Amino acid sequence: MKYVVVGTSHFGFEVVETILKGDKDAEIHLYERGATASYMSCGSQSYLEGISKDLDEMHLANEKSYRNQGISIHCNSDVIGLNGDKKNYPC
Ligand SMILES: Cc1cc2nc3c(=O)[nH]c(=O)nc-3n(C[C@H](O)[C@H](O)[C@H](O)COP(=O)(O)OP(=O)(O)OC[C@H]3O[C@@H](n4cnc5c(N)ncnc54)[C@H](O)[C@@H]3O)c2cc1C
Repeated sequence: MKYVVVGTSHFGFEVVETILKGDKDAEIHLYERGATASYMSCGSQSYLEGISKDLDEMHLANEKSYRNQGISIHCNSDVIGLNGDKKNYPC
């Protein structure tokens, strides 16, 4: 089945992992308006407190790891609507 997931943070990441567990042949298109995937906003606090030294550590996944799972990841893509009838999603 073909899936469209909007957003790569906690919710989007979990949705993708859940789909893959249930449907090994899933065709997943993952959209993120930001420049990078799966930034954990909750990790910002540990960065500001100096516990984590690099904001790049604050990612659940990245474009490469998604691609390695067979997912079509699209960063810098702001989804402005989902058209269920025509089965398309303008960015
Ligand atoms: C400092 C801090 C500490 C926190 N600590 C905790 C904690 O201890 N425990 C806890 O449970 N929660 C905590 N939270 C809250 C937690 O981070 C959020 O609940 C969680 O990020 C929500 O995840 P989400 O995927 O639903 O939404 P978001 O994190 O808001 O992610 C939405 C994603 O979708 C993308 N997006 C949105 N609209 C579009 C669009 N139209 N097209 C394409 N992409 C789009 C965004 O760019 C973003 O990447 C904390 C938050 C902060 C800021």
